[in-house]
Amino acid sequence: MTAPNTTIFEHMSGLAREFGAINLGQGFPELPEPPEMIAAAQAALAGKSNQYPPMRGLPELRSAVADYYGRTQGLELGADNVVVTSGGTEALAASLFALIAPGDEVILVQPLYDAYLPLVRWAGGTARMINLIPPQWTLPLDTLAAAIGPKTRGIVLNTPNNPVGTMLGRETLEAIGELAEKHDLWVLCDEVWEAMVFDGTAHISPLAIPSLAQRAIKVGSAGKIFSMTGWKVGWAVAAPELAAKIAGRHQFLTFTTPPALQWAAAEGLALPDSWFDAQRARYGALKARLVSGLEQSGFKVLPSSGTWFVTIDLAASGLPADDAMLAERLVREAGVASIPVSAFYAEAPQTGYLRLCFTKDEAVLDEAVARLAKFRAELG
Ligand code: PMP
Repeated sequence: MTAPNTTIFEHMSGLAREFGAINLGQGFPELPEPPEMIAAAQAALAGKSNQYPPMRGLPELRSAVADYYGRTQGLELGADNVVVTSGGTEALAASLFALIAPGDEVILVQPLYDAYLPLVRWAGGTARMINLIPPQWTLPLDTLAAAIGPKTRGIVLNTPNNPVGTMLGRETLEAIGELAEKHDLWVLCDEVWEAMVFDGTAHISPLAIPSLAQRAIKVGSAGKIFSMTGWKVGWAVAAPELAAKIAGRHQFLTFTTPPALQWAAAEGLALPDSWFDAQRARYGALKARLVSGLEQSGFKVLPSSGTWFVTIDLAASGLPADDAMLAERLVREAGVASIPVSAFYAEAPQTGYLRLCFTKDEAVLDEAVARLAKFRAELG
C-alpha cells in the first residue's frame, strides 16, 4: 500500500454527499456540541494570549492531562510525561519519527487505523502485519511472538480498537510487556478512544503495566474525549526521556497547537466525573439504539466495548460478504454510507464486516436502520 491520495473516510463521505445518503461512515458526531467546551474556548480566545504557546504545550494542559489519567486510569504522571500535539495523529507521527531508525521493523496489528503504515514508512521503517482474529478480534500472542525478528524495534497497538471496538485486557498487555522486555521493544499505544467505553470494561493503558511503563507511549485526543473531532488537540504520554525525544519531533512537525483550544481542553479535563459519565451515557444509549434496531431487522452485530462504531457480520446477516462492494451499493441503493472493515488492512484483507458510526441523533439512526432493513429484505 502506498500512501493513499484519499482515505476511505473521505471517499465514503463524498459519496454520501453525492447520493444524499445518511453518513454512518466517517466517525464524527452530528449532535449538539458540549457548551462548556465552546464557552471555555471562546473565553480563552478573548482573554488569553493567541501567540505561540510553549512548544511542549501549555503547562496547565500538560498537568491537566497527567491529573486526568491519574484520576481515571490510576497512572502516576506529571507534566514531564506529556507532549501536547495537534491531534492524536501528530502524536503518532512524532512518536514514530522519534522511535524509528531506517531499516527498523515495526509490528502493526490489522485491522489498523490508516495513518500507521504511511507514518512507519516515512520514518524509514518496515512494517510487519499480524491480524486480530474475528469475531472476538483477539490478539494472537503466539503470532505476535513469532513476528518478532532481529530488526524488530516496536509494536503499535490500538485500544479501544477502531474499527472493531474491542479492547486489550490486562493479561494480553502483560504478555506483550514480557515480549517487549525480552526483545527490548517500544510499544506505541493509540488510546484516543479511551473515554468512549460503554459496557463498564476498564480501559487499561500499557503505561499501567509495570514492564511497559518505561517503554510505552500513550496517545490521547481531546477531539475524541470531548466529541469535537475538528479540534485536533492531542498528546503523547511517556517516560520523561522518551517524551523529550517525541517533543524533538513535534518541534518540527507543527511546533505548537492553538492555545485557546489547549486552555479549553485543560478546563475540560478537570470537569467532574459526572460530566464524563453523562457523556458516556448519551453515547451508550445511541449505540444501544442502533444495535437493537439492527438486530431486530436481522443483522448480526459483533460485540464491542468502545469507540463510536459497531461492526456488522455480513455473512451472518444474510448479506454478500464482499464488504467493499456492499458499502458501494449501500450508499447508492440504500442511502446509507458505511466503511468496509477490509479498508483497514494493508495486506490480505479480512472481508465480511462493515463499520457503522452511531453518533447521530435517534431519528437519523432509526431512518438508517429502516433503509438498511429494506435493502436486506429486497435482497432476500
Ligand atoms: N487514532 C485512531 C484510532 C482514530 O480513530 C483517530 C481518529 N479517527 C485518530 C487516531 C486521530 O485522532 P485526532 O483526530 O486527534 O488526530
